[in-house]
Order: sequence, then C-alpha cells, then structure tokens
Amino acid sequence: MGRITLQKVVKSFGALDILHGIDLDIQDGEFIVFVGPSGCGKSTLLRQIAGLDKPTSGQIHIDGELVNDVPAADRGLAMVFQSYALYPHMTVRQNLAFGLENARLPKHEIDSRIAEAARMLEIGDYLNRRPGQLSGGQRQRVAIGRAIVRNPTAFLLDEPLSNLDAELRISMRAELSALHARLKTTMIYVTHDQIEAMTLANRIVVLRKGKIEQVGTPLELYNTPANRFVAGFIGAPS
Ligand code: ADP
Ligand code: MG
Repeated sequence: MGRITLQKVVKSFGALDILHGIDLDIQDGEFIVFVGPSGCGKSTLLRQIAGLDKPTSGQIHIDGELVNDVPAADRGLAMVFQSYALYPHMTVRQNLAFGLENARLPKHEIDSRIAEAARMLEIGDYLNRRPGQLSGGQRQRVAIGRAIVRNPTAFLLDEPLSNLDAELRISMRAELSALHARLKTTMIYVTHDQIEAMTLANRIVVLRKGKIEQVGTPLELYNTPANRFVAGFIGAPS
C-alpha cells in the first residue's frame, strides 16, 4: 500500500499563492521525483503530503482515505530531510529506536527492525556512536535508517543528498536505488538536481511556479518535453 492521490491541491500563505491546483496520482511502489528550480514549491508540496501543513483547498488521499485532517504522525509516512535532524545527545541506536519506543513497540521488534536497517544501510559498526562522531554520509544513512525502521507506507525525501559532496552524492544515489528495489515502497523524492532526478526516478514531476509542467518517465521527458521550460530544465535540445 502506498498510493497517494492529490486533487486540485492549492496552498496559499496569506495573499501569496504557492501551489496552484496540483493533480497527481502516485502509484504504490513508485519512485517519483519532484524537480524544479529553487522556490517553485517542491518542499511546500511535500509538506502537504506529509501533513506538516494543510492545503488551503483540494484533497489528499492515501490508499483511498482522505487525509487532509489526519495528523502527520498518523499518516504512516516517514520523512527524510536535507539536514539530518538526528538527536545529537543520543547514540545511533537510540536515534533509530526513539520513534518506535514512543509507539510502544515491543523491545524484540525494535531490536530486529534496527538490526535489519543496520544491515541494509551498513551502519551496524557505529550504532553506539553519537551523530557528532559520524561523517555526513554516515549521518544521512542513519537518517534514512530512522525512516526505514518505521515501516512506512511511503518515504518522503526532501533534498536528502544536497549537503553531501559530489562523490558521496553519486554513491548514495546508487544506494537509494538499491534500497527502493529491495523495499519496493513508494518514494517521493524532492530535488533541484536534474541529473539526480533522471537517475533515480520511475517518473518525474517537473514543477514551475507552483504548477506541474509535465509528468513522465525520464525518457519521455527527454524525448518529448512538453515545452521549452521542460526541455531546458531536463537538458534535452529544444
Ligand atoms: P522549493 O522547495 O521548491 O525550493 P518552497 O516550497 O520551499 O520551494 O517554497 C516555495 C515558495 O513558497 C517560496 O517562494 C517560499 O518563500 C514560499 N514559502 C514557503 N513556506 C512559506 C511560509 N511558511 N510562509 C510564506 N511563504 C512561504
Ligand atoms: Mg525545498
């Protein structure tokens, strides 16, 4: 399960219209990437899906349920941000366990989920360290691990690699693809980086000024861009 449907989603801050009626059907298990220039509304759109913010109008459904009034914690989603947002005073293991303990999961279940995530992300060697003792790449793996242990319906990732250096970014991309192939969970991934979008996505949503310019596979966008903006942004000759 992990089908997410947006119908006419509008978001305004006061008199400022940021999202102008977004219609989108995200399939279960899809790796979908929102791409567009800085300020076009990618994070705002993700925050409406996450439940961190509420649309001014329009509907969001998750697996058929209208979730506009469902709090973030009850949507079954897990979010990963650019800034790792790990608890600095806790060890990696404690960071991973924190949300699960709050949800009152039994200890053996928490331990087995942490062990599985640690194996998948190869973070088992530093479960007892604190975030301050880790590299940027290691920290971002822990942040992804913290999302994985929650067994979410979908992952929402907002520019998760943009704080990493170029080399690490490329290897983490490959890791994220492998992770998706293994988990087969819906992933909604925000980036302003066209190459990242092209390499990761099953489908790309190109946003501009709070509107969708085109939705399609990387190949479709490259071969048949809907307009000059998409062509220019995706890098195909127009
Ligand atoms: P992106 O993630 O694509 O860079 P954002 O979604 O963060 O873009 O922002 C889109 C626009 O909405 C920007 O112009 C930003 O200044 C504005 N914006 C975002 N959040 C708020 C807010 N809470 N209040 C007012 N304006 C906001
Ligand atoms: Mg953003």
